[in-house]
Amino acid sequence: MPIHILPDHVVSQIAAGEVVERPSSVVKELIENAIDAKANHIILKVEGSGQRLIEVSDNGIGIPATEVPLALMRHATSKLDRTEDLFQINTLGFRGEALASIGSVSRLTLTSFTGMTDMGVCMKIEGGKAEVPIPLATTEGTTVRVEDLFFNVPARLKFLKSAFTEHRHISGLVTRYALAYPSIRWEYLHDGKIELQTSGNNERREILAALYGLQDAKKMLDLEFQSEDIHINGYISPISLTRSNRREITIFVNGRWIQDVSLTAAIIKAYHTMLMVGRYPLAVLFIQVPPDLVDVNVHPAKAEVRFQDPDHVFSEVQRAIRRGLLAYSPVPTLSTSTLWGSQTQIIDPAWNMAAEIQTEDLPESHSQPVSEHIQPSLPGDKLPLLRLIGQVASTYLIAEGPDGLYLIDQHAAHERILFEKLMTQFKMHAIPSQTLLEPSVVQLSAEKSNLLNEQLPYLEKLGFVIEIFGPNAYKVRAIPALILGGNPSQALMALVESFEEDESPLQSEIEARIAGRVCKRMAVKGGQVLSGDEQKKLLFDLEACQSPRTCPHGRPTMIHLSADLLERQFGRTGAR
Ligand code: ADP
Ligand code: MG
Repeated sequence: MPIHILPDHVVSQIAAGEVVERPSSVVKELIENAIDAKANHIILKVEGSGQRLIEVSDNGIGIPATEVPLALMRHATSKLDRTEDLFQINTLGFRGEALASIGSVSRLTLTSFTGMTDMGVCMKIEGGKAEVPIPLATTEGTTVRVEDLFFNVPARLKFLKSAFTEHRHISGLVTRYALAYPSIRWEYLHDGKIELQTSGNNERREILAALYGLQDAKKMLDLEFQSEDIHINGYISPISLTRSNRREITIFVNGRWIQDVSLTAAIIKAYHTMLMVGRYPLAVLFIQVPPDLVDVNVHPAKAEVRFQDPDHVFSEVQRAIRRGLLAYSPVPTLSTSTLWGSQTQIIDPAWNMAAEIQTEDLPESHSQPVSEHIQPSLPGDKLPLLRLIGQVASTYLIAEGPDGLYLIDQHAAHERILFEKLMTQFKMHAIPSQTLLEPSVVQLSAEKSNLLNEQLPYLEKLGFVIEIFGPNAYKVRAIPALILGGNPSQALMALVESFEEDESPLQSEIEARIAGRVCKRMAVKGGQVLSGDEQKKLLFDLEACQSPRTCPHGRPTMIHLSADLLERQFGRTGAR
């Protein structure tokens, strides 16, 4: 085939592929247009999970009859004029592509009236072929009706997921936009049934319930944060409320719902060590930054942005969340009344119960300034003096405190101890490192070796002395004195393995993360018999920790059975 310029309808369909991936993309573009048109009432009707019908009606400013044919053409927009404007975008749309793209893969009918003339107008476009607009008496605002999506691109249809999934995508999208724009009255009907209806009176909590369910929505903490150039507000989950994946993290930047792996990672990191491994927080964040500091023109679907200074935004997001979390974390107090009864509650670890305490219990003013620890420690979380009783199953220590019995996981506890010691030394820039009598040589794959090279400077700061020893080979000459006794090359291998799982950690947190891993690797294991002295030392060191109740990865180090609880369990209190 000789080189030739593609016919216009083919170009349109190629472009449409980027903008209109699935029914929910159509919904997104149409409601964004309605928001840009300053509507305060938006009605969305969906049938057949969006494939049969998507209709969005708004009471916004409307489109002048003379401009309607233009609105349906590619690269036609009223929101942008010059290139410079690209960095001052205050609208959700700006590419002038949506209506044309949708019109090229569906049967689209647009009806609009500005209220400035006698009559509105109605115009159709089917599979990219526009019809002549006709005058029509209608109310002010715009209605876009999209029928038979992808009727002319059967290949696309095959890529759609089940009706259920597409439906879920649409519902999730509308609910999030409703939450982001609570001053708009939203109505959303699916196959004739009302799925979402909001009042438009700025009441966000009620919409949050539509997103998370009433119970979880009630638990979400308010977030409000203002720094020099960034404003962040929204909702974050307390540490007692988690999910098994990160899908419940929603980020809006300047009113636009975006997907951003690193920002999501920043949010998860703010909960660092406070959640169990494999558990993720819920969050809805509305981030406002000056438009010139963010590039929204990254992809036609406008679901990604680029920040001028990403590190700054990430660390501000983390700061906001840390502050929010710590402002809400109550001093742990165990009420035995909540323990009475079911077995599962009895073995609920103490740290989790503290977190269970509802925010309603806290006075409004309970937000004190918070210093920035790499390792968040909840206030008042120190241990009382403990008396060692012994070791069980070569894995747990038993100890007595003034308030009952403690069962301690020796591995988790040792991990915590090593971690805090190492981080303290690190912050004081005084990590004693111990030269190995016999340097240990490690051979890595090229890929792993690249990973390690990147981390070498951090490892050095943590007390490792590692030399490059030929291609992809390393010689470990010294390790932090604290972890002496373990196998250094094994530790190094474990480290490299886990670098891969990293989702671009923040610079400031890399050391803590690496330290956490080293300590996990080097801590005593479950099943390891400890001498009496070793047991005592472990307990003593744990008492000295800032956050003795969890390991650096968020697992509990201990279970506390209070004397009161024991009494109740033995039926002694009732008998008296
Ligand atoms: P963009 O939103 O990027 O400008 P679109 O193809 O989505 O591109 O829309 C083209 C133009 O049509 C918009 O710039 C706007 O002027 C007009 N328009 C689209 N939808 C509406 C609406 N609901 N209300 C008023 N004007 C609209
Ligand atoms: Mg648009």
